[in-house]
Amino acid sequence: MRCSCCNKNLTDFESVLRHPVTMEFLDICSRCLKDIPINPVEPASEIDDVDYDDIEELFYRESIVTGKQIGRAHV
Ligand SMILES: [Zn+2]
Repeated sequence: MRCSCCNKNLTDFESVLRHPVTMEFLDICSRCLKDIPINPVEPASEIDDVDYDDIEELFYRESIVTGKQIGRAHV
């Protein structure tokens, strides 16, 4: 796959970057991206899922602690 701007060969990373709004593949190399005022969505969005799980787990732990406190308050 080649850059749609300069026709340079895209790296694996560049070829999976997506447009933040349309979520379509940009097919633009990192050099050309610097001239474009958009923040491409990186495939590392999988890491966001992990972060979300961590947050969920934090809420879960917090709810356990809070639940105990509320329980004691009611009793
Ligand atoms: Zn390019």
